[in-house]
Amino acid sequence: MPEPEILARVRATFSKNRQNGRVTYESQAQAIELAKQLVATSSKITVLTGAGISTDSGIPDFRGPNGLWTKNPDAERAATLQFYLQDAQLRNRSWQTRLKWINNNPQPNDGHRALLAIEQRNALVAIVTQNVDELHQRAGHQPNKVLEVHGTLHRTCCWGCKDRRPMTEALARVQAGEPDPKCELCGGILKSDTILFGQSLDQDVMDQAMQASTECDLFLAVGTSLSVFPACNTLPRAKTCGAKIVIVNGQPTEMDKYADAIINAPISEVLPQICGVVNS
Ligand SMILES: [Zn+2]
Repeated sequence: MPEPEILARVRATFSKNRQNGRVTYESQAQAIELAKQLVATSSKITVLTGAGISTDSGIPDFRGPNGLWTKNPDAERAATLQFYLQDAQLRNRSWQTRLKWINNNPQPNDGHRALLAIEQRNALVAIVTQNVDELHQRAGHQPNKVLEVHGTLHRTCCWGCKDRRPMTEALARVQAGEPDPKCELCGGILKSDTILFGQSLDQDVMDQAMQASTECDLFLAVGTSLSVFPACNTLPRAKTCGAKIVIVNGQPTEMDKYADAIINAPISEVLPQICGVVNS
């Protein structure tokens, strides 16, 4: 159940709706029902996803109690471009981490699968994701519907010549005994094709994400604290352009004040309900 403070905020939102002649909702279950109606009646939906949607697939988030960076400060250094490029030992450990990740072979969960229903009825503008796990594509989304603003772990990118290849190629070389495989074209440092701290985002992908936020009539933010810029700018853009806003997250977010419905509940349980995949 939500914290009393959150429930009060949901109530405040809904009582404002009542003043506008709409229905009053009093509980989290009714907030879910409102979100479900908004999803069902919207024809242009943009979804923003963060780490919270993938934790039920066994992928830790970053700063939570069991987060990657909370438990292993080395991982935060490895996510910083300057350290990664300078420190060969750090890169060796990063390759071992990637090997473990791929061997764990994380799979989409019910939350990822629920979002697919939106694409199947042609109501999906795009999924803007901060995740690098490709679990939306694995759940069945068309790759061109998924905008990976932080890149993907399933490809390598050469820091020198920008050559991109499947991650599996480099990992095969690691398993064959190369602790830190270099680019076969130019000898440059290889990294995963993700955006590290100190590295600029792909402006083209970010432009598409903002465009998707401009076009939608419903913006659904899932599993993100909405505190990582510039990805979280998509939500106020959608709001400004007139979209309804639904936030689904385990905890309160930085942008709850913009939402028409806020649902603080386990994501893989609640998304199937609001996407109409199961009865709530
Ligand atoms: Zn290269």
